[in-house]
Amino acid sequence: MTDIERLAQAVEAFGDVRLGERLARHTTFGVGGPADVFLTARDGESLGRAVVAARDADAPVFILGSGSNILVADAGIRGLVIDNRARRETASEDGLTYRIESGTSFAAFARKMCRIGKAGLAWAVGIPGTLGGAVVYNAGAYGGCLADVLQRVRIQDEDGRADWIDAPDLGLVYRGSVFTRGQFEGRTVLEAEVALIPGDSVALLAEAAGYDARRLTAQPRGRNAGSTFKNPPEHPAWKLIDAVGLRGATRGEAAISDRHCNFFVNYGNARAEDVAWLIHEAEHRVQEQFGITLQREVAFVGEW
Ligand SMILES: Cc1cc2nc3c(=O)[nH]c(=O)nc-3n(C[C@H](O)[C@H](O)[C@H](O)COP(=O)(O)OP(=O)(O)OC[C@H]3O[C@@H](n4cnc5c(N)ncnc54)[C@H](O)[C@@H]3O)c2cc1C
Repeated sequence: MTDIERLAQAVEAFGDVRLGERLARHTTFGVGGPADVFLTARDGESLGRAVVAARDADAPVFILGSGSNILVADAGIRGLVIDNRARRETASEDGLTYRIESGTSFAAFARKMCRIGKAGLAWAVGIPGTLGGAVVYNAGAYGGCLADVLQRVRIQDEDGRADWIDAPDLGLVYRGSVFTRGQFEGRTVLEAEVALIPGDSVALLAEAAGYDARRLTAQPRGRNAGSTFKNPPEHPAWKLIDAVGLRGATRGEAAISDRHCNFFVNYGNARAEDVAWLIHEAEHRVQEQFGITLQREVAFVGEW
């Protein structure tokens, strides 16, 4: 039996297992090679137990949300990739505090809250990730961010112990947290608790529709992972990329959008290598011409 088969056997009790699943099918960029072992976990317990089983088998683990903020290498990801579909949601008696499993769609949850008159998340209706990914990046838009409503998060450590951690202890900043800074390496977000306030559903849906319209106008079509770089304090990233002459630049079937230069787009069958080349080119030119180091929002993952 190969190591990959052994790993597949170790996790098969926790969901559907596929070998060599192409990750291009599971990322918004539509690029990325195979996962050695790809497990679809449909509840929080399976998610947590699969992580422990893979660690016991000495295999690396990658938790995949909606794949909306990652660039997966053409060579794929070694070890176990867990497709997180844990989506249970419970409300407190007063209906204002929600406990949501980390595989829940953040946008769908936010839209539902608007519909039922719970205020605090209208800004999030267009963010295409899971709650887990939203915690990792402190997802935000239009002046709001998850930290505004997040109370606490249940996190499993490397040894499989799960504990609630209060939001202020997660170091949430603009598109970052203890996770993005490598301080919580190997830990898994299982659930998040958010506190909302009563609102008027008609007004909240109108507010959400306004955000939808703004996205439709500003953001390009084509497969992408949202903003590629964080905005440096000096200037928005798109302006810097535009100023170094990269608006509309292409490499293979990847491009820097001519509509919004901080969006890098796969307009066909781009390879991760092509997208990465454009990202490096933008970093290099902005550094050289402006002395500004662009910080990536999109994470490179897998075997580069
Ligand atoms: C069109 C478009 C528009 C976007 N607009 C915005 C925006 O306005 N604001 C914004 O903030 N972002 C935006 N994004 C980026 C993205 O949607 C967010 O960063 C989102 O929160 C990522 O969630 P995800 O589930 O897709 O994470 P993934 O991309 O699947 O994973 C990202 C990282 O988080 C880790 N991770 C995911 N789940 C867990 C978990 N349960 N436990 C531990 N680690 C985990 C992964 O291992 C990986 O390292 C946009 C993306 C797109 C494609």
